Amino acid sequence: MHKPSPPLEGPDAFQDQIRIVLVETSHSGNIGAVARAMKNMQLANLWLVNPNSFPDEASYARAAGASDILDRAKVVSTLDEALEDCVMVLGTSARGRKIPWPVVPPPEAAVIAAENSQAGPVALVFGRENHGLSNDELHRCHYHIHIPSNPEYSSLNLSMAVQIMCYELRMLYLRNLERGEGSHYLRSMTAPGDDGWDVPAAKVGDVEGFYSHLEQTLHDVDFHRRDNPRQLMSRLRRLFQRAKLDQMEINILRGVLSAVQKAAGASGNNKSTQAGNPPAGQDDGHV
Ligand code: SAH
Repeated sequence: MHKPSPPLEGPDAFQDQIRIVLVETSHSGNIGAVARAMKNMQLANLWLVNPNSFPDEASYARAAGASDILDRAKVVSTLDEALEDCVMVLGTSARGRKIPWPVVPPPEAAVIAAENSQAGPVALVFGRENHGLSNDELHRCHYHIHIPSNPEYSSLNLSMAVQIMCYELRMLYLRNLERGEGSHYLRSMTAPGDDGWDVPAAKVGDVEGFYSHLEQTLHDVDFHRRDNPRQLMSRLRRLFQRAKLDQMEINILRGVLSAVQKAAGASGNNKSTQAGNPPAGQDDGHV
């Protein structure tokens, strides 16, 4: 993306308080992939409960540039140790349980995590690749986060489940930043006039000048007959209005029209008047 990442600073930045807890992960490559998913979303606190193999080559290989997250990962032998000082615990599972636990979808879970992170560490707990979290482990959580996946095939890869939750947390963080500081991280940049577009949007007068020039050129090449217009100009207007032209695009298009008019004139078809042509120096399409 073209925009810089906001800084992660201050003891109360909620990312610092969010703890990603992986329970008895069997494939260490997944631990590396989780580190990468976290760092992409600017999270850093990874706790590993009794991992099958860690640290090892596979985890570092999959972490790519996020090996610092693995270096700082805390390895503990029980889930209780990972949760002891937390004020809020959210467990993730693809499966419904016999005794249903309060279930929240990822965006609401992110709100709960962010709100509680004001008071202390918040844990997001992820289960084993082969059989997830046990009922006992889920019952240590205040909420059960369910990612609403395909009911026929509901279980995500561990790191992808982590990625979704970290993404939700980041979206929330950026939205809050947007509201609080008037920053622009979530605004789209798709057309002239949007923050970041390289050329100013064309003004109505310039666009009208282009339409006149276009109509004249189409007339010069015998495509457009003013005695039988067939809504041609309305349809072309609608096409160009959809494009939301910028000033440079107008100049290019007018340069093209001038070249067409010149060529048509050279072959003896030019019926153009100068009316509607752009001022000298603006119509050459040189950009
Ligand atoms: N076979 C396991 C699923 C393991 S997937 C089972 O039946 O529970 C590994 C972990 O990814 C899960 O323990 C959970 O933490 C997370 N996960 C995968 N799919 C998920 C989903 N749809 N919703 C919430 N968490 C999910």
